Amino acid sequence: MQSSEGLSPSARESLQSRLEAQRQELERQAESHTRANPPDQRLRDVNAALKRLEVGTYGVCFDCAKPIPQPTLDADPLAIRDTECLQAYEAIGKDQAAGAIVSPARPGL
Ligand SMILES: [Zn+2]
Repeated sequence: MQSSEGLSPSARESLQSRLEAQRQELERQAESHTRANPPDQRLRDVNAALKRLEVGTYGVCFDCAKPIPQPTLDADPLAIRDTECLQAYEAIGKDQAAGAIVSPARPGL
C-alpha cells in the first residue's frame, strides 16, 4: 500500500532533488547566518519533507491523514496539512509539532 499515491515515481524524484538542493542551500546559509535570521525552521521543514518522501507519508495530512490537495503541494512542497487542518492548526497556534511531522498522527484513519 502506498500512502502517497498521487505522486508518480518521477514526480517524487524531482521533488526529492528539489528538496535536497534546498536543504544544501539552507545548510550552507546556516553556516554563515547569525541568530538574527536563522534558517533552522525551514531546514527542519525541508528535512521532514525529505523524510516523509522516504517513508511514503509525503502529501498526507499530518492531522487527518487525508491526501493533501495537489495545488497546496504545488504552492508549498513542504505543506504537511490540508487546508482545513492548516486553518485549525493556525487558529490554535501550536508550535511544537515541527519536530514530529514525519508521519500522520492517526495513520489508520
Ligand atoms: Zn487534514
